[in-house]
Amino acid sequence: MKQDILFLEPVFTHNVWGGTRLHNDFGYDVEGDDIGECWGIAAHQNGDCTVTNGEFKGEKLSKLWDEHRELFGNAKGVRFPLLVKIIDAKNDLSIQVHPDDTYAKEHENGSFGKMECWYILDCKEDEKIVIGHNAKTKEELEDMVNEKRWNNFIREIPIKKGDFLQIDPGTVHAIKGGTLILETQQNSDITYRVYDYDRLSNGKLRPLHIKQSFDVINVPAKSADDSIIEEKFSDDKNSIQQFIDCEYYKVFKINVNDNMEFTQDADFILMTVVEGSGKINGCEIRKGSHFVVTSECDAIELEGKMQIVASVSK
Ligand code: ZN
Repeated sequence: MKQDILFLEPVFTHNVWGGTRLHNDFGYDVEGDDIGECWGIAAHQNGDCTVTNGEFKGEKLSKLWDEHRELFGNAKGVRFPLLVKIIDAKNDLSIQVHPDDTYAKEHENGSFGKMECWYILDCKEDEKIVIGHNAKTKEELEDMVNEKRWNNFIREIPIKKGDFLQIDPGTVHAIKGGTLILETQQNSDITYRVYDYDRLSNGKLRPLHIKQSFDVINVPAKSADDSIIEEKFSDDKNSIQQFIDCEYYKVFKINVNDNMEFTQDADFILMTVVEGSGKINGCEIRKGSHFVVTSECDAIELEGKMQIVASVSK
């Protein structure tokens, strides 16, 4: 029995900062003006995608991971390793930081930490993103936060559509309103909120996690210049660009302008179409399609005119 490709039905979340673009720009069948996240490839207790095709139609991705590990090259690990989301930030997201595996294991009931990366799908002109901070020592960091000197503390850098950013655990970060991103991350949901602009959610301040943040924030932050990887491709050629190769994943951008064929020997590949439409091995795909190319698939044939963000776990 074989299933080359698992197409997935995403899970959506309502968030104070969410909007309507997941419905309007991506055509997802989801209502509401506060839709913040589309969990496109997820096998997590807070969001578990359903397979929409083939022999495994109707099954949850987490169940396939548990019971049909052969689809994933018999990869090891108690949990599906990665999670791919599209995030529509209509308003600013809270300033936050994630722990690494060691800290999360000790303080969050054996959970994984979170390394993540962002591909900027769209943003306003002259947009900025929060990455890193300006404190030079741990003491200065604690002073800035305790004294609420947010403008001194938070470091913003300019971004544009097509930029790619790697966010290591311990990096202070936040997406600003008007930005649409595709996030590839470790399969974890552990976030420490440093500052939430004193906003109310259902009449209440959302909890902050100042102690944990002080524990995990890297001081000093990595240089701002090293934070952005620029996209390079020409509009009329097929190309594959590797954005990152880190401890947990590799992420690529595939630009399809014509037929494109390649063999693959990864355990499995996660893919999201972020622009255009076409086919993969004869199956129709379009902007917003999320799928897993399983280890049963030896060769991939892409046709059409589209852009795909792909990742493999390590
Ligand atoms: Zn994050």
